[in-house]
Amino acid sequence: MADLDATRGTGSGLPDALRAAGNAGAAGAAGAFDDHHRPRADQVADCVHCGFCLTTCPTYVLWGEEMDSPRGRIHLIAQGLEGEPLSTSMVTHVDRCLGCMACVTACPSGVRYDQLIEDTRSQVERRHPRGARDRALRAAIFALFPYPRRLRLLRGPLWAYQRSGLQALIGRTQLLERLAPTLATLDALAPRLRGVPRPPRRVAAHGDRRAVVGMLTGCVQSAFFPDVNAATVRILAAEGCDVLIPPGQGCCGALSVHNGRRAEAERFARRLIDTFERSGMDYFVVNAAGCGSSLKEYGALLADDPAYATRAATFAAKVRDLAELLIEIGPVAERHPLPVTVAYHDACHLGHAQGIRAQPRTLLRGVPGLELREIADPEICCGSAGVWNVLNPEPAAALGDRKAAAVLATGASLLVTANPGCLMQVAAAVRRQGGEIALAHTAQVLDASICGLGPAALTDR
Ligand code: SF4
Ligand code: SF4
Repeated sequence: MADLDATRGTGSGLPDALRAAGNAGAAGAAGAFDDHHRPRADQVADCVHCGFCLTTCPTYVLWGEEMDSPRGRIHLIAQGLEGEPLSTSMVTHVDRCLGCMACVTACPSGVRYDQLIEDTRSQVERRHPRGARDRALRAAIFALFPYPRRLRLLRGPLWAYQRSGLQALIGRTQLLERLAPTLATLDALAPRLRGVPRPPRRVAAHGDRRAVVGMLTGCVQSAFFPDVNAATVRILAAEGCDVLIPPGQGCCGALSVHNGRRAEAERFARRLIDTFERSGMDYFVVNAAGCGSSLKEYGALLADDPAYATRAATFAAKVRDLAELLIEIGPVAERHPLPVTVAYHDACHLGHAQGIRAQPRTLLRGVPGLELREIADPEICCGSAGVWNVLNPEPAAALGDRKAAAVLATGASLLVTANPGCLMQVAAAVRRQGGEIALAHTAQVLDASICGLGPAALTDR
């Protein structure tokens, strides 16, 4: 805490010289940051070091280290703004942040940690030379995950690997853990694949049309959870929406922007805007929390691009999470009874980043016969956080185990959440603990109720 105390002179946590310098880069390109979207000094100054965010921060909960807390990271960013170099130690503490935004929810001073960490990460990616292994792993991740076609190519081999018994055999030998820990992590996370036909380009509303909705099919969602997309389309049509699903829409850029790859995220965003902006859609619906939170920030992401700034802001204003949209337009489709006990998990990028907590619960409570149970410590991340669990498998497993224990303690038979990453992370942790619980996306629960499928459609899969 000694370093931190040194910043407390003004009561704001930012030394007078830096405060006077404002955001224009008084330290110039020296120090940790250059002038291209450097972290904003006024946002750093908003932190009053009260510590209210500490107990909601998963890395602080795990390690109890000040520099692995939101307050500590903001202090490191302040040091960088004052001219400290971008040291390996600073980068390590920045890398360890899950970007879960629990600290944004907890902060009574309204500190925009989300913007601070995004700007900092983008500086790290441009200015910090990473080690060869880290570089190779990140290159492989970003050559694969934001490309739905490449991910879909993995479906065949993965399906054969799972169904042939090879996965179970290798799991028993623990060979992967010993020889290739990253592959072992991916192996543990991989969901059980199901075959679902690709959705058509356009699905008509049932009955009177109430809205025209463009839909993001996503990367991981379309490759590994096509049943969630299929359920989303059926619900929207049943609720009176024409659904537009152009193929080849690509990635929304969420994974890139959350990992400091801003230029790549901008390219993905431009492509998605081009694909949908002349479609005549009233809304753009998203069923993956991490994607939704980034899509709502397209206006800020492309603010410097004169050709796209206004178009990006117009696009972002139409973005809705599925639960948010269904509450906004109100239900018209009949709900059939679904007697099942559900534990609902708030995905961080839905709860913390978008403030969407009440809508999915309202929708679930609207299903006759469904009993909703709350999970202890709901604000703490499950450890998925995009690709954080692949880059940091050990702490991610510890957070996953915490979450799985809290989920199993509810006694529910079904865990429901709205993010593919959380589904994979918690499923892997439950399996590791020898527990049993079925998992589903909110869309699949509503779909089962609207279609009158009964609880076995969700719990016996
Ligand atoms: S985003 Fe999450 S992990 Fe990062 S500092 Fe905030 S609470 Fe901690
Ligand atoms: S709660 Fe907000 S003001 Fe208080 S230490 Fe955390 S980030 Fe700073």
